Amino acid sequence: MKKALFLDRDGVINRLVKYGNGWDCPQTPKDVKLVERIEKIIFWVNQNKILVVEISNQPGVAKGKIDQKTSDEIERKVHQLLKENGAFVDKTYICPHHPQAVVPELKKVCDCRKPKPGLILKASEELGINLKKSIFLGDKASDVNAAKNAGVKSLIYLHNEDESNKNEEAKRAQADFRASSVNETLQILKNFFKIK
Ligand SMILES: [Mg+2]
Ligand SMILES: [Zn+2]
Repeated sequence: MKKALFLDRDGVINRLVKYGNGWDCPQTPKDVKLVERIEKIIFWVNQNKILVVEISNQPGVAKGKIDQKTSDEIERKVHQLLKENGAFVDKTYICPHHPQAVVPELKKVCDCRKPKPGLILKASEELGINLKKSIFLGDKASDVNAAKNAGVKSLIYLHNEDESNKNEEAKRAQADFRASSVNETLQILKNFFKIK
C-alpha cells in the first residue's frame, strides 16, 4: 500500500483569479499562475516516492461558464507549469458535476463532489493508497471535510496570494494541521511522512 499527498487544484496548485464578478478558478489557460513555490512541495513529495494525487471539483462546464475544451486546456496548463518547474502530479481526479448545473448530463448530486469523499476513495482503490498514511493539502473547508469523510488527515494551506477572506473561513474548518508558508507545509509533511 502506497502513501499519498492528495491535493486540491484551485488555490493550492494554481492561484484563484480576480474577475469582474469576483474570485474564481482560471477561466482561460493564460490566467493560470502557480501558487508561489508550490512546485517545491510537490517536488519534495515526488522525490520521496509518495504519490501526488489531485482531487478537484471543476463545475465550470456544468455551470455553463466555460466549455469542455477550455477546461481541458486549463488543466493541461496547470500540469505544464508544474512540469516546467520539475514537479508532477501522478494522477488527477475531477468531479465535473454540480447540483444546479445548466448542462443536463452534468446536473446531479454525485458522490464525487467534495466534501464527499468519492474521488479520494476511488483513487485509493485504483492506486492502492493507504488512506491512514496519507494527507490532504487544501485551502477550503470542503477539502478538509472531504479528507475527513475519507479518513485522511488534512492540512490547510493559508497563503495570501489570492482571495483575501478565504483564510478566515478556512481557519474555521477543523483541519488536523495548518500552515501559512511553503516551509511550514514542508515541515508538517516531513513529520507526517516521517522523512527527514
Ligand atoms: Mg481550492
Ligand atoms: Zn461529481
